[in-house]
Amino acid sequence: MRYQKPKGTMDILPGESRKWQYVESIAQDTFNKYRFSEIRTPIFESYDVFERSSGDTSDIVSKEMYDFHDKGDRHIALRPEGTAGVVRAYVENKLYGPENIKPYKVWYKGPMFRYERPQSGRQRQFHQIGLEAFGSDSPELDAEIISVGLEFLNRLGIKNLKVAINTLGDPESRANYHQALVDYFTPFKDELSDDSKVRLEKNPLRILDSKDKGDKKIVANAPSILDYLNDPSQKRFDYLKDLLDDLDINYEVDSTMVRGLDYYNHTIFEFMVTDPAFDNKEITVLAGGRYNGLVEELGGPETPGIGFGLGVERLMMLLKDEDLPSESDLDVYLVTIGEKAERASVKILSDLRRAGFSADKDYLQRKIKAQFKTANNLNAKYTVTIGDSELENSTANVKNMATGEQVSVSLTNLADELKKIEG
Ligand code: ATP
Ligand code: MG
Repeated sequence: MRYQKPKGTMDILPGESRKWQYVESIAQDTFNKYRFSEIRTPIFESYDVFERSSGDTSDIVSKEMYDFHDKGDRHIALRPEGTAGVVRAYVENKLYGPENIKPYKVWYKGPMFRYERPQSGRQRQFHQIGLEAFGSDSPELDAEIISVGLEFLNRLGIKNLKVAINTLGDPESRANYHQALVDYFTPFKDELSDDSKVRLEKNPLRILDSKDKGDKKIVANAPSILDYLNDPSQKRFDYLKDLLDDLDINYEVDSTMVRGLDYYNHTIFEFMVTDPAFDNKEITVLAGGRYNGLVEELGGPETPGIGFGLGVERLMMLLKDEDLPSESDLDVYLVTIGEKAERASVKILSDLRRAGFSADKDYLQRKIKAQFKTANNLNAKYTVTIGDSELENSTANVKNMATGEQVSVSLTNLADELKKIEG
């Protein structure tokens, strides 16, 4: 019997995991600079958490959720995205309390699960890195969220990013627009896809996000949200654009952009790239926006929020090898000759590692030549060779693998001697 990984999942093997660690370390470093702290929430939550937050007309809830009833008959779902769990934790742990500085800023990373048809850049278990900030409705914070996302991707060497922004306005503007969409789409009702027929009843804004070709044609002439903004929403959007100009951030207003989830308002944004890795099709790597109703929806006090989520697999496909740090070399490979040296090597290796060197040895009783070959393959900076005579004299032979230079040093102070050689 040969087992295979479940459809839509991937093994992240050592060569690849190095890239993941690099990306995660840049995320941590960048987000910490902006004073976001890491939050780790469960990978599964009550189904209701996602249903409440995403709305039951979202693709995620209606089609893509991995849900099940556990042995205690609880309705559970694997998280399809990060925000809902973070908001649940925010409310449950009363992070809105007066002892916490506002805005309350957190970031997260981890696997997400969606039952989708697997294809390039689309999996059933995938990973997101994201962040959220609670407790401020300020447009300056919106600009900060966009710029932290941009800095993160720029540091990773991702170029040619297109920053698309839009606004959904305040609830009044959104309601006016909602009506305009109903008026526009209703005459086309019979031509819309089945999904969009349902959306027309429940959430017409979502029709704009439809991937159906027929829908897209109808959507092309749909009214624009920008014509339905009330005065405060218009001013707010204009101010955000000024702030982005101040930051020298190049953006495009895409008035057809909507976010898949029900709870967004005001600022929404996506970062797109066109890259050979995706057949030069434009893809979204990062998406986010403001969700002022969500904390309340999940039982907390009225609290504004804003955040973004980014698909790590898609990001990985964009990373160029030359932008990645090279694999760190092995400091020392211990070469042993004979049984006594074999035994002594256990302690020597342990001492070297404690002193801070990365160190390894042969565990297959291979001949010296094979041991040196391994040292070469591992790109060892030094080999330390120990045989019977070295043990008797308490010395070790150190070879610089790059220059071929060899010296005999005291075995008792091996770590110190190596540090001296290193300079
Ligand atoms: P799409 O329109 O591509 O389905 P989405 O609107 O479902 O995207 P979001 O829910 O906004 O995506 O998720 C944010 C990011 O997570 C996406 O921009 C993408 O990079 C990534 N992502 C979403 N679904 C998947 C998936 N199934 N596999 C890999 N990455 C994904
Ligand atoms: Mg999707």
